Amino acid sequence: MQYPEPISKLIDSYMKLPGIGSKTATRLAFYTIDMQEDDVTEFAQSLISAKRDLSYCSICGNITESDPCMICADKSRDNSKVVVVEQPKDVMSLERMNEYHGLYHVLHGVLSPIEGKGSEDINIASLLRRLQKNEAIKEVIIATNATPEGEATAMYIARLVKPANIKVTRLAHGLAVGSDIEYADEMTLFKAIEGRQEI
Ligand code: ZN
Repeated sequence: MQYPEPISKLIDSYMKLPGIGSKTATRLAFYTIDMQEDDVTEFAQSLISAKRDLSYCSICGNITESDPCMICADKSRDNSKVVVVEQPKDVMSLERMNEYHGLYHVLHGVLSPIEGKGSEDINIASLLRRLQKNEAIKEVIIATNATPEGEATAMYIARLVKPANIKVTRLAHGLAVGSDIEYADEMTLFKAIEGRQEI
């Protein structure tokens, strides 16, 4: 038996989410049908608002409601340091630690020859322009994940940035190899930043 079209459409939508296969999508679709109408409306509106009201900061690439983002616009932050991360989620993780008060740059990915992702597919050019324009920046701290792609991206950026006489450091490996910044606890992140090493 085929599902009525509204259900199969909902299942298809859930299946577009990462890590959700047809079984889970079907369960979620039927769960949604059983939800209170108000809750469904709120859910739908928060999906639309998250997409419509958020954009990327034109300076650092972080997710923001206003441009520039709150971090770039905050004059009390230490503008001599820029932490380079893979994803906006990583900014949130580092901010939660409450120990780092510099700026960020979000790459939105890493170099990955397997996935055909080259330097033009991530925010490297905007980082270089930012460093060129902003002489206050004295250190670039590369906080890509401890994966082969994260390491390769760190090396690639270091090669480009170092000739400009800017110190390039990498987070210390309190972070396990293959681990994601996103899932590291605050103490581990703090130690990784404190123990960062020049590359
Ligand atoms: Zn920003």
